[in-house]
Amino acid sequence: MANIIGGLAVSHTPTIGFAVDHDKRNDPAWAPIFEGFEPMRVWLEEKKPDVLFYIFNDHVTSFFFDHYAAFSLGIDQRYEVADEGGGPRDLPAIEGHAALSRHIGASLMADEFDMAFFQDKPLDHGVFSPLSALLPYRGGWPVQIVPLQVGVLQFPIPSARRCFKLGQALRRAIESYPEDLKVAVIATGGLSHQVHGERCGFNNPEWDAEFVDLIVDDPQRLTEIRLAEYAALGGLEAAEVVMWLIMRGALSANVKKLHQSYYLPSMTGIATLILENGVRETRSSTDIHARQRDKIDEQLAGLDGLEGTYPFDHARSLKSYRLNRFLHRLIDPAWRQRFIEAPEALFDETKLNSEERSLLANRDWRGLIHYGAIFFLLEKLGAVIGVSNLHIYAAMRGQSLEDFQKTRRQQVLYSVAGKVQDRNRS
Ligand code: FE
Repeated sequence: MANIIGGLAVSHTPTIGFAVDHDKRNDPAWAPIFEGFEPMRVWLEEKKPDVLFYIFNDHVTSFFFDHYAAFSLGIDQRYEVADEGGGPRDLPAIEGHAALSRHIGASLMADEFDMAFFQDKPLDHGVFSPLSALLPYRGGWPVQIVPLQVGVLQFPIPSARRCFKLGQALRRAIESYPEDLKVAVIATGGLSHQVHGERCGFNNPEWDAEFVDLIVDDPQRLTEIRLAEYAALGGLEAAEVVMWLIMRGALSANVKKLHQSYYLPSMTGIATLILENGVRETRSSTDIHARQRDKIDEQLAGLDGLEGTYPFDHARSLKSYRLNRFLHRLIDPAWRQRFIEAPEALFDETKLNSEERSLLANRDWRGLIHYGAIFFLLEKLGAVIGVSNLHIYAAMRGQSLEDFQKTRRQQVLYSVAGKVQDRNRS
């Protein structure tokens, strides 16, 4: 069984990554950052977690306002370092534990948290700033991560109470994962700061100290504080501290505080915190975890046996992402023109493998579905090459168009091509 060995909390200001990259370890203005991080670094080195469940917010780098979600869980197997304006930091990409992500995602959904899921997105300083001060990374990171992006920049954002409840569901999710894994939950963000407007530069070290006390001893009290009150007490951008409640919700009530530090060098109160999980197993623990797994399976149990049916789940989505990405780009007129004129060049450019190339080149509709293409991208391909939806349906069934049409009440042809004439219509 997976178990949560502890919870860590840490600020994610870019200052930290800057101090690491410019080796400010012995500079008196920066040294306290490293001192505060040292016990966390040592704890991670000693405990050797297999996975970090990493709670952060993106800073309008990979998550923009064209589609902004409250809780976005990473389901990828690898996360690159984002470019935030001056080129990405010189850090290696970090591996994701995709199987654990899938389990956690399914469990949170079963517990009625309507999650968003992401892949193919580089992660910004919300992840890599503290991480680079906590773990050795030359030659590769020693852990895998499951990242959770919390949308705290565009209001309305999740309340402290909602975050705490998500944390409680996260505990059920992680503890019911059948494989033996040591998981540490790390929350980032805060403490007091405001970085916009005339109130920019606001700090409140007294509130920061109280907040850390409460998160250790009485997190329930923190769930009663409204977002406007968090903003008044710590600065608007510091309302991101609600992310710490996700971590705290995932731990037992009886945590043990092993370390705490605070340093306010410039704009943001930089805090670190280590909480050891005091989880108690009971004779019914196994049942609790098995019950959660049953709950996860409940909605989709039996779907596997449905013949000729291929549910588009996270495993399928991850496996066939490159192919689906390729097909999705057909909504761009320039891309589809290039596809019509010289598909091989695009196959090379997008590094499609030989199986993917031949599936596309042969218009192997059934093979494409088996491989993991989603139908709604196949109908786009159909629109581009002048093939109707009905042709695709017939091909997937292994029938001629004529035979398939006999099974329909009306023999009509259509596609999603908006303006381009369907060549099969005439
Ligand atoms: Fe932030």
